[in-house]
Amino acid sequence: MRTVAVIGGSLAGLSAARALREQGYDGRIVVVGEEDLFPYDRPPLSKEFLAGKIEMAELALTTPTEDAALDLEWRLGDPATGLDRGARAVVLASGREVPADGVVVATGARARTLPGDLHGVHTLRTADDAVALRRDLVVSRRLVVIGGGFIGAEVASTARDMGLEVTVIESDPVPLGRVLGADLAATCAELHRDNGVHLITGEVVTGLAGNGRVSAVHLAGGRTEPADVVVVGIGAAPNVEWLAGSGIEHDHRGVWTDDAGATNVPQVVAAGDCAFSPCAYAGTAVRHEHWTNAVRQPAAAVSTLLGATPAPPTPPYFWSDQYGARLQFAGHRLPDDAVEIIDGDPADRRFVAGYRHNGELVAVFAMNQPKLFGRWRRQLSPRIVPAGLP
Ligand SMILES: Cc1cc2nc3c(=O)[nH]c(=O)nc-3n(C[C@H](O)[C@H](O)[C@H](O)COP(=O)(O)OP(=O)(O)OC[C@H]3O[C@@H](n4cnc5c(N)ncnc54)[C@H](O)[C@@H]3O)c2cc1C
Repeated sequence: MRTVAVIGGSLAGLSAARALREQGYDGRIVVVGEEDLFPYDRPPLSKEFLAGKIEMAELALTTPTEDAALDLEWRLGDPATGLDRGARAVVLASGREVPADGVVVATGARARTLPGDLHGVHTLRTADDAVALRRDLVVSRRLVVIGGGFIGAEVASTARDMGLEVTVIESDPVPLGRVLGADLAATCAELHRDNGVHLITGEVVTGLAGNGRVSAVHLAGGRTEPADVVVVGIGAAPNVEWLAGSGIEHDHRGVWTDDAGATNVPQVVAAGDCAFSPCAYAGTAVRHEHWTNAVRQPAAAVSTLLGATPAPPTPPYFWSDQYGARLQFAGHRLPDDAVEIIDGDPADRRFVAGYRHNGELVAVFAMNQPKLFGRWRRQLSPRIVPAGLP
């Protein structure tokens, strides 16, 4: 291979470029990015950066020295709009083409939105989003967060620290129930209440009110929650539309790959938040939207691209910081798994819980117990993945 095009200039794209060099590839690497910024870290966007505790420069994922050593060619601010298999080239919005004999798809995901264009309504995915949201938070009194997932909870926590009145609205009976199961999710929900956040569950948002600027959120039950600023935290959709017509299998769940990152098209691999891949620990195909996956999965995909054997997969892992608590989860929980407290007590907000399938430990969750969590995480067993996925 003489040229590899990495599409997506963020964590998974940079990890792929690093992996290419680490695995001995010495040809051209062209990194194509939609954003006009060198790769930066997203987790602080809902935490320290949103709080104003760290600056943009501290989010940088690479340094000029590392960049020079990797010898990358950047095409930033010019998203890929198509992949021309016949010409073996990636087509960019500017009309320019990047001829390539290997392609890594790492285009990530974008925040889902609600219809309407009122001022004061935000999503949070990019550095620009975080700057705009912070600007509104510092002059607002009442924040309504729609969606009680990890990003919603982190924004609620940061805004509370900034002194705002915060309401979180979640349509499920308990936030995070699908990830953690009802009991442990209830413990996380308590964090909101412990910190003076008003949590409304089992209620659906029907619309936003306001004249130019948002003033309230309407709920299906007829209730109205006043708001000066609203954050919509209802999940993310994979950036895959640009692959239409390329012949690469993809749908609303992401770019389909095998468990080593290969797509159905030779010499095209995918990794990170955009990839929908079989996961031994989930026992099915999933799209992981976690920082650690965006670091590890590209290394496997690059091995596939270079014709080497990828390292065996490790259990999925993510963390979240909310209200001063560190939450950590490894593995994947399915509804039939049995849950048990392994150490500590949820009432103390300091514990480790394990999930078992046929007696095997398949997932582990911890609150404020990082050391013990690390020990249990190493003991997780994979499940059996049915053949023919996704
Ligand atoms: C606010 C926030 C907080 C988070 N906190 C945590 C946390 O605490 N713990 C955790 O485990 N994970 C966290 N995450 C998730 C983690 O940041 C993501 O899993 C990770 O960023 C995924 O990396 P990625 O490179 O696959 O995708 P992305 O980060 O989405 O990057 C994809 C890049 O591709 C670009 N792109 C899109 N389309 C095109 C195109 N057609 N051509 C070229 N470029 C394109 C995008 O603009 C983007 O720059 C958080 C995410 C957010 C948004």
